[in-house]
Amino acid sequence: MSNEKTATKPAVSESIFQKVISHAKEYGFVFQSSEIYDGLASVYDYGQNGVELKNNLKMCWWKAMTQLNDNIVGIDAAILMHPKTWVASGHVASFADPMLDNKDSKKRYRADQLLEKHADELIAKGEAVKAQQVLDIMNEHLKTNDLKALLDLILAEKIKCPLSNTANWTEIRQFNLMFSTQLGAMAEESSEIYLRPETAQGIFVNYLNVQKSGRMKLPFGIAQIGKAFRNEIVARQFIFRMREFEQMEMQFFIQPGTQKEWYEKWKATRLQWHKALGLPADKLQYHDHVKLAHYADAAVDIEFEFPFGFKEMEGIHSRTDFDLTEHEKLSKKKQQYYDNDINKNYVPYVIETSVGADRLFLAHLCNAYTEEQGTDANGEVKERIYLKFHPAIAPIKAAIFPLTKKDSLPEKAMQIFNDLKLDFNLNYEEKDSIGKRYTRQDLLGTPFCITVDHQTLEDNTVTIRYRDTAEQKRLPIAALHKEIGDAVSMKRIFELL
Ligand code: ATP
Repeated sequence: MSNEKTATKPAVSESIFQKVISHAKEYGFVFQSSEIYDGLASVYDYGQNGVELKNNLKMCWWKAMTQLNDNIVGIDAAILMHPKTWVASGHVASFADPMLDNKDSKKRYRADQLLEKHADELIAKGEAVKAQQVLDIMNEHLKTNDLKALLDLILAEKIKCPLSNTANWTEIRQFNLMFSTQLGAMAEESSEIYLRPETAQGIFVNYLNVQKSGRMKLPFGIAQIGKAFRNEIVARQFIFRMREFEQMEMQFFIQPGTQKEWYEKWKATRLQWHKALGLPADKLQYHDHVKLAHYADAAVDIEFEFPFGFKEMEGIHSRTDFDLTEHEKLSKKKQQYYDNDINKNYVPYVIETSVGADRLFLAHLCNAYTEEQGTDANGEVKERIYLKFHPAIAPIKAAIFPLTKKDSLPEKAMQIFNDLKLDFNLNYEEKDSIGKRYTRQDLLGTPFCITVDHQTLEDNTVTIRYRDTAEQKRLPIAALHKEIGDAVSMKRIFELL
């Protein structure tokens, strides 16, 4: 499941990352869960602006999948599933990470990540052949689950803990990443169930229900957005790796033998979707999996360049008929599809696209965070910070300000607010100077600020100010709906797909 590469970490970007994290808290995007009790490690809450951004991202994915494709439908399956689901999917047996502790620093590491980091260091020293040998041996030991040999490799390579600088390691043990809980009141073994570690299985066990009730013909897809839970051992980097997170997954059911062509199609479609949402092409890259998961015959990650390096944001996997066949075996219920075109029954193959809503959120937050030098009205050099979100995903679409609290300006501004609020998420603000109000909206990523002044009362025009350029112009109130609507419409994104 994991195919992480260790990237270099430029100090400058790390400090930008700290700023993004602070910004997220200060402006109501992301809070540490249960903060008043000193937080719960690697669990986060989304604040008033974060939830809007996240919902917009999810809606953009949902519509791009279901509305733009007449052969993709959505479902919403339960988080709790029959425990046999996870036996069939292979999660009970093998959804585990090989972990070891350094006895001096008491820090816990993933064995494969230590070795991958070591291989990167060898490459940096010009020893690429040696690095490849290490990775090949590691892959072999991982495949055969030979944990003793994996530790011997770490010791032979003299890999040390970065904190204690010693190689005083414990044995390597496999830690299953699934959270378990009890169903009902009885704590018998048979009632142990799991919080789903991925949303995909909710789709697989429902594929025939959807196919039959929707009279779906292959190829067709099922999309789902929902929570997933993994007891990540080394959880870090803010919302990049959490223990409770949200996935947006689509399983595309196809005729066996056509997987190569559909895999390529979805690989290209998904990259284009990220670009259309405003992530720059040079911050996106593919990373082919060398070490394939037990269910896949091809897999690629779409990586985004976070401030801590290029890291996985989305996975595209050719999952063969693994899951459906395993469910067929364990449930003893046929999972075959009757293909009228060729008069044959078969278990479909599956291409999966799987993106983390939280990692996507983090990518957009990091990408939007902009520090810019500019001059203010008095010619003084000032630093301006703003969030340059695509208007379609911005949490607040426009802010309405009366210039002052007097002379019926608030009433007029409120009238505009009430007219537009039926279609857009707006902010109304009458406190502070206009300049301060602009600054605050910049920090939230609001693309438009609309100021109502005395001239408005005479000619029904307002000043509209654009976030990215800080330009202002006069516009009739009647033109506001179109001005905002055109910019924030998801149509602008979908036209690029
Ligand atoms: P990683 O190698 O980073 O652990 P993975 O390969 O295990 O990720 P998948 O099982 O392919 O991830 O899950 C699909 C997507 O779900 C990932 O691309 C990522 O965006 C998201 N995701 C997975 N684990 C987490 C997590 N712990 N926190 C946040 N998002 C996650």
